[in-house]
Amino acid sequence: MSCPLCERVKLTEAGKYPYLIHEFKHSYLMLGEHQFYNGYSVLILKEHFREMTDLPNHISTEFFQEMMTASKAIEKAFGPKKMNMCSLGNVVDHVHWHFFPRYANDPEFFDPPWMRMKDFESARVSPAQAAINIEKIKKAIG
Ligand SMILES: [Zn+2]
Repeated sequence: MSCPLCERVKLTEAGKYPYLIHEFKHSYLMLGEHQFYNGYSVLILKEHFREMTDLPNHISTEFFQEMMTASKAIEKAFGPKKMNMCSLGNVVDHVHWHFFPRYANDPEFFDPPWMRMKDFESARVSPAQAAINIEKIKKAIG
């Protein structure tokens, strides 16, 4: 049984995933392939775990710090009014976190980002278009 995020991790390790922002010890930070919310990124655990509660304590502690570093970098790079971080895993049950920067001019600011999911595809970015936001976040991570 193949997992699409294990496949993406393999592709990234082979240097073939063009949306990679940063490699952490336990995870990869990738720019979202759509930018409906400018700066949208995903943090993917390298190893396949189904639930956060399945992680050994030392990994969950270090992974939490990676999440904080990722979120701070996105905040610094884009200056959102609020960061939405979420981990669901109902579709792909490999631990990953979505980072949605939410802006003051968003008319649906109080709604969860998934309410606009049908519009995500229209905001798809090519690797060349993604490069600008990838650089901004890289610079913010330092
Ligand atoms: Zn997996």
